[in-house]
This record gives sequence, C-alpha cells and structure tokens, in this order.
Amino acid sequence: MTDAATPPPAAPRVREERPHPQVARIVLARPEARNAQDTRMLYELDDAYMRAMQDDDVRVVILAADGEMFSSGHDLRDRYPMADFDQRGTWSGYDLPGAEGWWATERELYVGLCLRWRDMPKPVIAAVHGKVMAAGLMLAWPCDLIVAADDTLFSDPVVAFGVNGHEYFVHPFELGPRKAKEMLFSGGSVDAEEARMLGMVNHVVPRAELDSFALDLARRIALRPTMGLKLAKQAVNQAMDLQGQRAAVEAAFSLHQLGHSHNRQRFGKLIDPSGVSVVREGR
Ligand code: ZN
Repeated sequence: MTDAATPPPAAPRVREERPHPQVARIVLARPEARNAQDTRMLYELDDAYMRAMQDDDVRVVILAADGEMFSSGHDLRDRYPMADFDQRGTWSGYDLPGAEGWWATERELYVGLCLRWRDMPKPVIAAVHGKVMAAGLMLAWPCDLIVAADDTLFSDPVVAFGVNGHEYFVHPFELGPRKAKEMLFSGGSVDAEEARMLGMVNHVVPRAELDSFALDLARRIALRPTMGLKLAKQAVNQAMDLQGQRAAVEAAFSLHQLGHSHNRQRFGKLIDPSGVSVVREGR
C-alpha cells in the first residue's frame, strides 16, 4: 500500500548481489515507493530466486530491502497487465468477469508465488527492517529464517479492507492463534522482540548489524552439505504440511476471495473503501 508515485517502468525493482561465493543476496530496490510490490517486482523477485536456485554454486539466499522499510505491501496503483509477463502457474483467464478473473490473478501472483517460494529447496534468510506491512509479510514468511533489525514492526491491517488478511494466510502458524487474531482484528503491529518471543523471528539485531549478521548466518549454513540442508528443509516443511498448514492456506484463500467478491457486490471495488483511511491513519 503506498501513495508514492509509480517510478518509470524501466526501473528495476530487485537487485542481485553475491556477497560470498556461496551466498546470493536479493534486494528489494524500490525504496522511493517503500518497496511496494507491483506485478513487475513479484516477477523480478521470482526470476532472481530461480537464478539462485539453478546456480549450483549458491547454497543460501538472503532476501533484504533498500530504504526505510522492508515492504509496505502490495502496490494498489499497480496497473501492469498480466499479459506483460510470463506466468509461473497453470491458471489463466485473468481478465474474465465476475470473481473468476481476480481469483486467477491472486492465485498466480500472490498465494501461488508464496507457496512456490516456500517450497524452494535451498535455505532462504529474510533480513527485515522498518515496517513489514500486509503483503510485506508475504515476502518474509515463505523464507526459512527471519533476522529482524530492532526497529522492525510487523502488521497486517487489511481486515479494514473487508478481507480476512493477506492472501498467504499462515498467520496462526507464525504467531499462534491469539496473537494472530489480535494482529488481524486490531490492525496493530508486533515488534521485533515480541516476534522473536513468539518464534516468528530467529534473531533481533541492531539495524547497523543486520546485513553482516545475516551474511554470517548464511556463511555458516553454507558450510553444510546441500543434501543435508535440503533434507532438513523438506523435513520441517513436511511437518508443517502434516499439521495442515497448506490446507489452511488454501481454505483461507477461498475466504479471501469471498471477501473480494462481497466487496465488489457491495462497493464495486475489491476492498471496502472505508478501510483506506483507517489503515492510512493507523487507527
Ligand atoms: Zn486479495
């Protein structure tokens, strides 16, 4: 969510670095728009992830961000047509009328990409700072580890928009059911230290040490054999699946589409317009 003007279409949204021979660092590079995620950023991020996955020299990936905050969420001013990009999933019909077109769009861009990233075989560390709002969480939560600067605030205020939460609905698994409900109902933030105590964040570090801490952690992980790392990641992710995480995400995504459909019928928009001022003013 941002009011910032959309920069020229040619501006890259993501930067790729190699701070260590076995560590790829991917940086959200749209600070002038508070790293709001438009369609272009999502596909550039997916491209960068795929290059890191396909490069056998890369053992660990870090996802970080330029500017004052990690990400303010989806760019509500995004007007890119889906036809401008090569889709990653099997759905289509993004312009179909009724609920069908938007369901397909969010399946491809949001829940589809998040599940794809969550299932990548190599360890990914999110290094977050500032605000991680709404869909900002959808970039951090599919990662395996999260290191947060001590100024980080996590929130998902989109219940104010008449939906259940953002599209990759793992809130109860990340925060526990009660804190998830409080975050969703109140639109309030969870700070870095509280997130660490809840098990959502691995480490909280001073802002100035975020990059070096994440790189040191990545270098330690990179000493392990890729086979062991893949097995460990699969074992944990499968344990989450056996607890119902994936089915819960799919069920919540259906409710999310019900919310959009309701808002379309009531307000002619995907979101309840009364929520915009509530979220903007932090009420
Ligand atoms: Zn949505």
